[in-house]
Amino acid sequence: MKIASHHVPGTREHELAQRIRPAPDYTPNKPWPEETRVQWGHGIVPAVPFFEAFLPGTFIRGEGKDIAEAEAKAFAQYEREGRCDHQWGRQRPGGDLYTNGAGWCRKCRAFRSSMFRPITKLGAHRKPLSTMELHHLESMETDHEMNEWMDRVYPDDRADREKLKRLLRVRRHLFGTVERKTA
Ligand SMILES: [Zn+2]
Repeated sequence: MKIASHHVPGTREHELAQRIRPAPDYTPNKPWPEETRVQWGHGIVPAVPFFEAFLPGTFIRGEGKDIAEAEAKAFAQYEREGRCDHQWGRQRPGGDLYTNGAGWCRKCRAFRSSMFRPITKLGAHRKPLSTMELHHLESMETDHEMNEWMDRVYPDDRADREKLKRLLRVRRHLFGTVERKTA
């Protein structure tokens, strides 16, 4: 497990985070595999404690009354995914149909970023960014450590990531973003 450097005192990222948005002190306690990158904090709106784990090709987020509970929930999901004989689809369970190539397992709700070939249709890009797309774009613009890690782990996808970033920027510029839900 690698802890995101904005949580590690003495790093440039930690110094920056202390000035902008300090993350709570926390020590992960679950046996995450070696290649996992983890981070945690409190959401902005609403301020829910969260714990996020980035594994090759996927991303797991847990939320709870505190960060330990959020980590426990994320790890329970990780274990659930490990036991599942997945059934992949483009439909997010209880949510939208994704045409960007992402897949979700109908049984355990696991997520994979490039499970299918993307479907593009005319006019599909003429719409505001969803909250999830906005978070994704912001992380591509500001989380340099994550970008370096992605480039190292998935060098073949680098051109696709750059293309997606340009596309999301154009859409944000032309169409803005959907209103954030505060419920
Ligand atoms: Zn599954």
